[in-house]
Amino acid sequence: MKRAAMRGSDSVRADLHIHTTASDGRWPPERVVAEVAAHSIGLFAIADHDTTAHVAEAEALAREAGVAFMRGVEVSSCLNGDLFHILAYGFDPEAPALPSMLHDNVALSDGYNEEIIRGLIAEGCPITLHDYLAYDYDRTRGGWKPLRFLMDRGVCAGIKDYFANLVANLSVPSAQYPHPADVVAAIRESGGVPILAHPGASLRCANARESPLRHLQELGIAGLECYSQYHDLATTRFCLDWCIRHDLLVTGGSDCHGGFVGRQLGVPAVDTSDLNLGELAERIVR
Ligand SMILES: [Zn+2]
Ligand SMILES: [Zn+2]
Repeated sequence: MKRAAMRGSDSVRADLHIHTTASDGRWPPERVVAEVAAHSIGLFAIADHDTTAHVAEAEALAREAGVAFMRGVEVSSCLNGDLFHILAYGFDPEAPALPSMLHDNVALSDGYNEEIIRGLIAEGCPITLHDYLAYDYDRTRGGWKPLRFLMDRGVCAGIKDYFANLVANLSVPSAQYPHPADVVAAIRESGGVPILAHPGASLRCANARESPLRHLQELGIAGLECYSQYHDLATTRFCLDWCIRHDLLVTGGSDCHGGFVGRQLGVPAVDTSDLNLGELAERIVR
């Protein structure tokens, strides 16, 4: 019934990729739901990096507001040294496999961030590890701990400066997040559906490259986030065509961080009729 309800004239505007203050976004769940309603979005998912901390609250607020909701999280994964973001949708919040992996991923990110701080100190940057470890910040500013710490201590001008002038000069090995096969397994064990986020950005070229896509598909990726602000028209078409040819699900989302990195909510504008939600349709909560 729900699947049928999402078709034709019942089609609604959808945004299945929104960050909150639980990761690097600027909006707490109540602000996300208010913005979703103000933008006439009828189906949304929050998808924070490696945390589901705000999923239950967003779900309750969505029910109150009468907006359809899907549980989501954006899981960090590494394949042959490259970072891939795998969206997990519609998981059972009580299942242990996914939370355990997310917990490990956060520990990996924390360790990597601490190595950056240690590396900068070794380079003579006037900061201390003790000060960094004790530091906290207002999450509605968006971003992540070392970025905000370095900005507040006056040694970093912003995101560009952080990556181009501070991190790029260090030889800190990137965090070794789990292999996509393990991420897919944890998502499936938790009753969720694995979707490759912004393939055009992850595969770093205008048209998502075929061979890694085929590999990820063999590892169990169930669909692609075809509609994304990272994609130009040609990349979107390539992804849609790929999904049709390989019978994969089609999703879309803004990757909005509440203004932290500029991406606007509800862009690109997609309706549920543009998507192929397949088994995801059964995981929509109202
Ligand atoms: Zn991402
Ligand atoms: Zn994202």
